[in-house]
Amino acid sequence: MSLPWLRQSWQQLSKQLAEQQLPPSLLIRGEKGLGKLQLAQFVAKTLLCSEQQHQACNRCHSCQLFDAGAHSSVFHFSHDKPKIDDIRALTAWANQTSQLGAYKVAILSDIGALNPASNNALLKTLEEPVANTHFILINHLPFKPIPTIASRCQLLTINVPPIEQVQQWLVQQKLRLDQYFPLIHRFCNGSPLAIADFYREQQLSELQSFVEQYQLALSQQPNKLAEQISKDPLKLQWLGHCLLLSISIARGLVSETMFETFNFKAASVKALELAYQDWLDLCKQWETFPGLNLGQQLYPLISRFKD
Ligand SMILES: [Zn+2]
Repeated sequence: MSLPWLRQSWQQLSKQLAEQQLPPSLLIRGEKGLGKLQLAQFVAKTLLCSEQQHQACNRCHSCQLFDAGAHSSVFHFSHDKPKIDDIRALTAWANQTSQLGAYKVAILSDIGALNPASNNALLKTLEEPVANTHFILINHLPFKPIPTIASRCQLLTINVPPIEQVQQWLVQQKLRLDQYFPLIHRFCNGSPLAIADFYREQQLSELQSFVEQYQLALSQQPNKLAEQISKDPLKLQWLGHCLLLSISIARGLVSETMFETFNFKAASVKALELAYQDWLDLCKQWETFPGLNLGQQLYPLISRFKD
């Protein structure tokens, strides 16, 4: 496992694999950008490897097919936002007999985004395990799978590594970290792969424009912010970071000039704290009702800043 912060989790799984103690359903959860998918793939590849060693040999026919994405014993959802048809395809796949070797593995991402019908169908599939078939479920925080699904799985939580380790790994990846690194680290929830993508995809101007829209929303022009969050619900996390930074600045804990061109200066601590509470409630609602119109739901939060 090449990602240093995943080594400990890999050791635990590797031990279970060696002792043939890996349960039929494993749920890997953590922030986006921690390499949960890579870990799931490594577990699957090791499980399927013909050499049956403590980790995938990378040489056998099975490992080569796996790397080429052509292993007939592996199931993936066809797209990022799995729907009921994907779960039906999964159920049909689970009931087939493996063609190569003994095991079959399904890698299922992102479980927190499933609607109620898909959740029920998945739960049924997990409740009727087929011999030698493994399900590795991936869940990006803050959205969670329904408790009945989580309760069917061995849970593995991947924590955010310490900032020094993140920094060291990013430098090894030949990324040039700038003065915005502490800010980007916050907005990427400390996830190294997310930070690397942020730098590679040069998302700084996108973040800057988001912060500008946040500022506009605080002065009661929330349309653009609402539109952005409706289009990309993960931006709801960015809003949470904006509010927290504004609270820290209003309390004098962080200097408002710390992030140079990013202006988080905002209203009173009280209005900000109420807005942050609204934001937490909104995240909870979104978790329960993924179909929620987030843009629309933002307006009460923004009205906290009317003076
Ligand atoms: Zn192999």
